[in-house]
Amino acid sequence: MTQEVKVYPLASPWGRFSLYTFFIDAPEPAIVDSGIASSPAEGMAPALAALGRRIADVRWILLTHGHIDHVGGAYALRELTGGRAQVVIGAADAPLLRSRRAHVDEYLAGRGRYLRDADGAARVAAAALAVISGELEPAVLVTGGEVIPLGGGVTVSVHHLPGHTAGSVGYLLDGQRSVFAGDAVQIHGAANGFPSYMDPSLYRASLEYLRDEVRPERLYLGHPYRHGNGLSAGVELDAEQARSALRESLDIEGLVGAAARDCLCAGLRETASPYSPFAPVAFEVGYQGDPALEPSPFFTSMHGYRTHFDQGKGQGRHG
Ligand SMILES: [Zn+2]
Repeated sequence: MTQEVKVYPLASPWGRFSLYTFFIDAPEPAIVDSGIASSPAEGMAPALAALGRRIADVRWILLTHGHIDHVGGAYALRELTGGRAQVVIGAADAPLLRSRRAHVDEYLAGRGRYLRDADGAARVAAAALAVISGELEPAVLVTGGEVIPLGGGVTVSVHHLPGHTAGSVGYLLDGQRSVFAGDAVQIHGAANGFPSYMDPSLYRASLEYLRDEVRPERLYLGHPYRHGNGLSAGVELDAEQARSALRESLDIEGLVGAAARDCLCAGLRETASPYSPFAPVAFEVGYQGDPALEPSPFFTSMHGYRTHFDQGKGQGRHG
């Protein structure tokens, strides 16, 4: 490919945050991630109009994973294209696109076990109802290795980046090594100040895969994640910034993982701490954020370490 394909971040307001989606200005235009229910009409449509593009012309909706702030707008966005845009998602996250209830189940199986919030599941159900524009059967399920044609010889290849969620994928704009990684690269996490991953080993392996195999020239992130100094990395990183974000993400997982394994080896103890039963981990890594703030990256990641630890014990017992 000779001509560089332009990419534009589209910011959609959500409370005190902005949600980021990315417009790939190809012959068959694509939008990576879909924000929440209001994002297509309130964020994407005016931003595209300012670029001289029409939301109705979008032909691909490429979802990096199933979290509500990424899939919530998919149904509404597809409607704005007259149903012509094809929705693509990682197979393991497809249940989160098909059903609002899946978000409640995910909450109950992970972070909800630690949050001491009797109304937690009801709150997640209400949020799913409010911000997911519709339940949806994806047109294309991907697991990595697929190539999606955006017309005129422009292609996007799919890379499996599990860890943050089981079905997280990255989309690589071929020929220019522009990578849309969603939430697979967290650095110190977003506003909550802690990186979120359901499976720490897979999260780490995906970071290494990005660093060693994909080697982004441009890296587009799902949120403006924070560095250790509290400053935002932004959502568009050049090659050098991408390398340092990957390095920093791996370093942080290393520190958090070591503290989590120490805590698990010593045995979990319930205390009055809001970080209980993982208070020693918060202390060890100096995390002072509110662990109850949804979507609770602290407890999501801690539960990931715990699951691994328990599986390891099980394997040990049975040889
Ligand atoms: Zn996410």
